[in-house]
Amino acid sequence: MTLRTIVATLLAATLAACATPRSQDNAEILRDKALEDQAGYSFVRDLTTEVGPRMGGTEADARAVAWTKARFEQMGFDKVWLEPVTFAQWQRNHERARVLGKFPQPLHITALGGSVGTQGELTGEIVMVEDYAALLATPSAQVKDKIVFIKNRMRKHKEGAGYGEAVIARGKGALEAEAKGAKALLIRSIGTDSHRFAHTGMMSMSAGQPQIPAAALSNPDADQLERLLAKGKVEVSLDINVGWTGEYTSHNVIAEITGKGRPEEIIAIGGHLDSWDLGTGALDDGAGVAITAGAAYQFIKHRQRPQRTIRVIAFSNEEQGLIGAKAYAKAHADELSRHIVASESDFGAGPIWAFKTRLANPSDEFIARAQALLKPLGIKYLGNDATSGGPDIIPMADKGVPLFQLKQDGTDYFDYHHTADDTLDKINPEHFNQNLAAWTVMLHLFANEYQLQEK
Ligand code: ZN
Ligand code: ZN
Repeated sequence: MTLRTIVATLLAATLAACATPRSQDNAEILRDKALEDQAGYSFVRDLTTEVGPRMGGTEADARAVAWTKARFEQMGFDKVWLEPVTFAQWQRNHERARVLGKFPQPLHITALGGSVGTQGELTGEIVMVEDYAALLATPSAQVKDKIVFIKNRMRKHKEGAGYGEAVIARGKGALEAEAKGAKALLIRSIGTDSHRFAHTGMMSMSAGQPQIPAAALSNPDADQLERLLAKGKVEVSLDINVGWTGEYTSHNVIAEITGKGRPEEIIAIGGHLDSWDLGTGALDDGAGVAITAGAAYQFIKHRQRPQRTIRVIAFSNEEQGLIGAKAYAKAHADELSRHIVASESDFGAGPIWAFKTRLANPSDEFIARAQALLKPLGIKYLGNDATSGGPDIIPMADKGVPLFQLKQDGTDYFDYHHTADDTLDKINPEHFNQNLAAWTVMLHLFANEYQLQEK
């Protein structure tokens, strides 16, 4: 070998070394493998295909529980079990609405969860109010024996900020309308779309069961009703056959990877297994169960047993009042102090753009490490002041369980939320896998790194 060849060889080797990135650590490897994963997406695809809609208390609720238990077992979790959740059963049979009089025509509606039926046909004149606050200010004499229509439209917002403002009409409108002597309540759907799909959702039962029927109009039908009202008095006929039928016992479905170092310390994640009955519950919340179970599965698939226990909870009947979540917090009250952190995915499957934490004393190193791992996914840190880990985490958070929150872009979420249009095609598989990768990172950090050295 000539000197010239030796120099050339050495130079080539040096250049190759410079071009090779530093070797990845386990968290980075798992994150990048998660981006290519198929198992997470196939979970939501198969759940929504084989079970379909799965409203709490329906026959599909039981099928969803059995399906999820079998799938968790198939995925190879160390433990899979069911915990009972009992609640009052509400049933939807049919709902119809039509405009009477000079401009007769049908209207697209859906009964609100928890509504009573009309007992046949109910007719009444519409009284339109701007929003819930306007209803509070309306004298009873204007509302008595009429059908109240709350017309305000929910605004679009990346973080779903319009929901909280608008949803009070659904939550409390019927009780207030009833108190003023109204016969029934119609609201504009709590949704941001312009499709002819009405959005259902639960009324608040905390102040009591409204005894008047309540339903939501699709956005275009609410527009139509406003135009008709601009022409004069409008009378509407409602035929809503829904109601409470009895008691039902469903289950939280729970799966666990037992930690090898600190098995008694739990990282609790999940989504809610129930959906509304209109769509197939792909975004709400098949995606959430699939993302969190899929992220946990990365540790099984790639044989990376975590130090702490990873527990995935498919919560029962979130929609009708966080019923599975409350049952979980109660059944596990004794071990909540060993829940190191908890979080839920329940905002669809849009890309995650930020994360927040609510931890007692996160070290700067830990946060910097999380930032470094999540930055390549386009995710930034917003601070240690998370107010929510997801609806099903509320009962745990109330008992002091620390939180993290991966914030999804929910700009379009309320186009589909609680409608017949919440179906699998609304999930973008690339966005789904970005979620999966981010959750995998969080699991790795909390199961293997968080404060482990200090304890
Ligand atoms: Zn949900
Ligand atoms: Zn929901």
